[in-house]
Amino acid sequence: MSARMAKDPDPVVPFDPSVFEGPAFRKKREVPDGLWMRCPGCEGMLYRKVVAENLEVCPTCNYHFRVPARQRIVQLTDTDSFEEFFTDILPDDPLNFTWRERKYGEYIKEYQAKTGTDEGVLTGVAYIKGRRAALGVMNGEFIMGSMGSVIGEKLTLLIEKATAEKLPLIIVCTSGGARMHEGALSLMQMAKTSAALGRFDEAGGLYIAVLADPTTGGTTASFGMLGDVIIAEPGALIGFAGARVIANTIRTELPDGFQKAEFLLEHGFIDRIVHRKELRSELARLIDYCES
Ligand SMILES: [Zn+2]
Repeated sequence: MSARMAKDPDPVVPFDPSVFEGPAFRKKREVPDGLWMRCPGCEGMLYRKVVAENLEVCPTCNYHFRVPARQRIVQLTDTDSFEEFFTDILPDDPLNFTWRERKYGEYIKEYQAKTGTDEGVLTGVAYIKGRRAALGVMNGEFIMGSMGSVIGEKLTLLIEKATAEKLPLIIVCTSGGARMHEGALSLMQMAKTSAALGRFDEAGGLYIAVLADPTTGGTTASFGMLGDVIIAEPGALIGFAGARVIANTIRTELPDGFQKAEFLLEHGFIDRIVHRKELRSELARLIDYCES
């Protein structure tokens, strides 16, 4: 060792986290997990149980929290009436796609374990206040509700079933857009579902699209916007591309909240905004009105 290094007044000591007691290593004193939640609408602290009993809506400001597919089915349908179909359509990794150094197949397994569902949509037939209907509910928790081949195929089969059995069709959308992990295959689902809806329409079927937060990208650009009646939940983000992408492309300032349900209703893109508490009754009313 040279004399110069030995005299170093501030030598570099290897970092040992076991002896460090700074703030970053102290356990955070947080609210017990799962008991309380903060509302993004009113910033209030909410008792999670109260929100759950209120259909996942803030009792103070009516902020609509996102709802996983199975819970949504319970909210919308008559008790135990949902009969699930097309459960044998399962995801694959046709492009052998790797993202962020992980295989797409690994993501699928991770989300299957996390959400308890095989893919991003549940499809079946259920009763809504006694009215039989074909029902598809997207699961925003599954890879951000992105639409890949399974969602496209299951929804197409559901639309064809509704056509053959002359059932009203309801699809609850919540989606981050097309699933990039499947490349062009995910984009093809837009054409496939739209063509099936075209045949359903020619056969005289009633299709109600329910747009929940968020509905974007390829989902908006296909079955999301093809409803005979398009309902949105209050405050839902609905759009095709993200606001920043649009602003950068057309180089102009965009109006406030231009991708919110309320703005879209005002400008004629959707037909109505329905509070979650009213959604089940509204669907039943629409089915009666269109079938009478
Ligand atoms: Zn609130």
